[in-house]
Amino acid sequence: MQGEFEDTTRTAKALIDPFDRAITYLRVSVTDRCDFRCVYCMSEDMTFLPKADLLTLEELDRLCSVFVAKGVRKLRMTGGEPLVRRNIMWLFERLGRHLDSGALDELTLTTNGSQLAKYAEQLAACGVRRVNVSLDTLNPEKFLAITRWGKFDKVMEGIDAATAAGLKIKINCVALKGVNDDEIHDLVRWCGENGHDLTFIEVMPMGDVGGEIRLDQYWPLSMVRGELQKQWTLNESDHATGGPARYVDCIETGGRIGFITPMTHNFCESCNRVRLTCTGTLYMCLGQEDVADLRSPLRTSEGDDLVADAIDEAIGRKPKGHDFIIDRRHQRPGVGRHMSVTGG
Ligand code: SAM
Ligand code: SF4
Repeated sequence: MQGEFEDTTRTAKALIDPFDRAITYLRVSVTDRCDFRCVYCMSEDMTFLPKADLLTLEELDRLCSVFVAKGVRKLRMTGGEPLVRRNIMWLFERLGRHLDSGALDELTLTTNGSQLAKYAEQLAACGVRRVNVSLDTLNPEKFLAITRWGKFDKVMEGIDAATAAGLKIKINCVALKGVNDDEIHDLVRWCGENGHDLTFIEVMPMGDVGGEIRLDQYWPLSMVRGELQKQWTLNESDHATGGPARYVDCIETGGRIGFITPMTHNFCESCNRVRLTCTGTLYMCLGQEDVADLRSPLRTSEGDDLVADAIDEAIGRKPKGHDFIIDRRHQRPGVGRHMSVTGG
């Protein structure tokens, strides 16, 4: 089955946007559902999409494969929680063929870790080498308060299982003022001891999360970094992923620490990514509302030319940058959609 989309000229055209950025990274939200209800991400009584609106796993495979044929080298599955989608391992297995053929450099996922104990070995067998696990605290009670429904021990089991399966782990930690600000040194130490990289994320104004006040949660990472420098030697790193993270090497632990600061820094000029939702909607920018529908062209014909044309047209509209703002007067989110729609 290798190379099944590579033959037609239209699918093979590389994705270069109007600002000369090559689009080589696709993030795919495979479901908007989740088994947690993190306070900054969802309200407790979320309404999810009707299952009938979702692309099937076969359709997701087809779409991802067109992107790969068009030059995407890295695929990240996210959500919602990607590992709660039924039969999701089928998709990982299918997409693994692009690693085997050399068309894809990396197949990976971002997960809350709740199902990792169950799937770590299968993921490794599909060719997954690294996984991002979201973990904002090492305190089980605080973990429950942040995730509302999460089980701390289960996530720890998942991280252990992933490590045992040979997966490299990066911990994603949303910096929340008044919540985990007293734990950042512990997190650096714990990650260092366990060989995990660590990335801090600034809380972003996305979606209504049911009465949580974002201005209270917002903690600029410049301050997080200043606090860390009181205890750790942080050297600028030239590691770059084309994304919004900036990295430092922590000399004492030997680990890498990233800072994702969409609110305070402009990272758009090197943007190499687009985001696909589980309904086949393509977001050309996390911070903008402009979208392209890929589901209709996908379902209209059995061949992939229509999809390839729709992707080209969408990339031709990729904006130069984003518009995040916290509306300080009305305390409204800068972007109305939830992070779980596009997967962050
Ligand atoms: N459920 C998976 C997880 O939690 O890792 C994948 C999806 S989740 C939406 C992806 C990342 O977005 C997580 O690291 C989460 O902490 C982050 N996130 C969610 N809402 C956010 C917000 N409002 N601001 C900043 N990061 C957010
Ligand atoms: Fe679920 Fe991830 Fe959102 Fe938490 S951050 S509610 S785990 S999608």
